[in-house]
Amino acid sequence: NAPPSIRSVVEWSRQHGEKIFLVYEDERVSFEAFYRAVSAFARELQAQGVQKGDRVAIVMRNLPEWVVAFYAAASVGAIVTPLNAWWTGPELEYGVTDSGAKVLVVDAERYERMTEHLPNCPSLVRVYVSRERDEIAHPLVKKLEDVIGAPNSWKDLPAEPLPPVEIGPEDDATIFYTSGTTGKPKGALATQRAVNSNIMAGAIGAARSFLRRGEAPPQPDPNAPQRASLISVPFFHVTGCFAVLNPSLFGGAKLVMMYKWDVIRAFELIEREKINQAGGVPTIAWQLIEHPARKNYDLSSLESVGYGGAPSAPELVRKIKETFPKSAPSNGWGMTETCASVTGHSGEDYQNRPDSCGPAVPVSELQIRDPNDGVTVLPPGQVGELWAKGPQVCKGYWNKPEETAKTFVDGWVRTGDLAKLDEEGFCFIIDRAKDMLIRGGENIYCVEVENVLYDHPAVMDAAIVGIPHRTLGEEPAAVVTLKPGASATEEELRAHVAEHLAAFKVPVKVKFWHEILPRNANGKILKNELKKAFEEEQA
Ligand code: ATP
Ligand code: MG
Repeated sequence: NAPPSIRSVVEWSRQHGEKIFLVYEDERVSFEAFYRAVSAFARELQAQGVQKGDRVAIVMRNLPEWVVAFYAAASVGAIVTPLNAWWTGPELEYGVTDSGAKVLVVDAERYERMTEHLPNCPSLVRVYVSRERDEIAHPLVKKLEDVIGAPNSWKDLPAEPLPPVEIGPEDDATIFYTSGTTGKPKGALATQRAVNSNIMAGAIGAARSFLRRGEAPPQPDPNAPQRASLISVPFFHVTGCFAVLNPSLFGGAKLVMMYKWDVIRAFELIEREKINQAGGVPTIAWQLIEHPARKNYDLSSLESVGYGGAPSAPELVRKIKETFPKSAPSNGWGMTETCASVTGHSGEDYQNRPDSCGPAVPVSELQIRDPNDGVTVLPPGQVGELWAKGPQVCKGYWNKPEETAKTFVDGWVRTGDLAKLDEEGFCFIIDRAKDMLIRGGENIYCVEVENVLYDHPAVMDAAIVGIPHRTLGEEPAAVVTLKPGASATEEELRAHVAEHLAAFKVPVKVKFWHEILPRNANGKILKNELKKAFEEEQA
């Protein structure tokens, strides 16, 4: 069983004591120091009147204070509502008013972005600003450091227990907003059980891959050195928070944060902090492999390069094995509505099926249903819409009863992804239903064409978008970034696709881009921006 509440994970983690939990620049926070900061801030929140079910919003990039705010708010039974730190002022205002947050915890940079919007957020009774140098004369604002001090001093806070609050597995725990790839971001409401199910799914899932091969899973070794993870995806999405942060706190792993993603800085940190686990999203894995400076660093501590959240080319698995022979690549599929992983596999299983995102994690079930009726279950091998069920599935969308009714049906979530299962239950994501193009009646899965482009030796990054056509409806067009120093012409790339795929799937145009394609915080390509580039050309 998963730990019954987020609060119980905090209590459990205290046994890791003086081991280091959080590393950020020159700040190092032990598990005990972290516990004290969480306890101090939890009492502060209660003193402000925060009660079970109240929303506490967090708007910060990855900082130790994010982690403290998250666990403190969860420990007093608040519904923690992390907002996307990349959002603009009006978007943040939407997040605060949509969730009706009572308290906001924000870093100085984002506070500045939000200041003029605060008068439009009447639900707020208190705002905590962290890392703020200037005085702030605002009746709602307190500096977070005045309450709990700076991270390196958390060890000196009193060793007081968390304030008592009864929290059970069915209580509401978090609202995370979806990435907004296909529309306006929606808040997905998760229970305590749903949030923690990732911890168990990961642990049992690892054992299961040994059992599949008829081997006994290794026993945990109490004298094994502490594990270390590099967190290079944001905490405000489920991958960062539920797939990396929460299991690290539970398992006593060291978590190394970065100011922002930077591949050279990542190499430095992997070497210095002896990182075992890195990745997050496929683009990051690609950059770790392809950057020429990699050879200047000792990266031998890396044991696993894992990712999910966006489609990844099958080629990536082989590249990881070639570059880091000691490390196991892993891929998992999930969505905000499922509190991170629903499927996952690593090592040999993944190498043998490089285009699969794995079978369902042991606590979950998958079905492929006919997209037209949403009811008929399709047999293995057939492509349809993926539905998922399990303890990690959210209760619904916050404030959106109609969307909830369409998406959450009898404990199942309708994913909007087209996929197929094989006889053994391995899942193959084909494309998002909304990303599929129909060219004169023929279906084109963008991901399939993108993967062929990725196979071309000169291509670093690629996306297929639909551009309007008067009689065919839509036609595929490609946007491609070449590797530094490599060259390829539009004709060459089209010929390369034509060699592998039917003629109707060959992009009618190829546009060259001069940097990595624009992506959101979850590593997904912003296809609307690419479409705009074609439209501007047309105009
Ligand atoms: P919105 O729902 O607001 O349009 P979004 O669906 O991008 O945004 P998320 O919940 O962050 O928001 O992403 C979930 C989606 O990410 C899945 O539906 C799927 O399309 C994609 N995805 C996640 N993991 C994988 C994976 N391993 N392989 C392929 N696609 C993945
Ligand atoms: Mg979605």
